[in-house]
Amino acid sequence: MRCPFCGNIDTQVKDSRPAEDHVSIRRRRFCPACGGRFTTYERVQLRDLVVIKTNGKREDFDRDKLERSIRISMQKRPIEPERIDQMISGIVRRLESMGETDIASKKIGEIVMEALARIDTVAYVRFASVYKNFQAADDFEDFVHELRPPVAPEE
Ligand SMILES: [Zn+2]
Repeated sequence: MRCPFCGNIDTQVKDSRPAEDHVSIRRRRFCPACGGRFTTYERVQLRDLVVIKTNGKREDFDRDKLERSIRISMQKRPIEPERIDQMISGIVRRLESMGETDIASKKIGEIVMEALARIDTVAYVRFASVYKNFQAADDFEDFVHELRPPVAPEE
């Protein structure tokens, strides 16, 4: 695994342990070249998913993007980080077990809302308010932008 700080390829695993109730393996890594420390997660990927956006464009499903948009909707909410990880893993498993490789971005939004509704009403409302404009936003990056708290007005 390449060091994210200096690009050195020869990094060492210091510690591996199960995370998220054995859904993933968490590895702490160390880079002997720069002394950097970072963590990686290893998960089973049942199939490679492709997101079909409403404009018809295809994009590889990116768990990290999904996670960012969900975490932003949960900002400052009293939710255990572990709970969020479990929820995201659950969503991904649902997507992977739908039997289709191609999944409409709209469908992903619906599944996320269902999951959020069960966990936290405020996070659900935040996400849903963006989802209403999903046709226009249509992209998790846009999601992230819209969910970001408004920047304080300039003095
Ligand atoms: Zn390094």
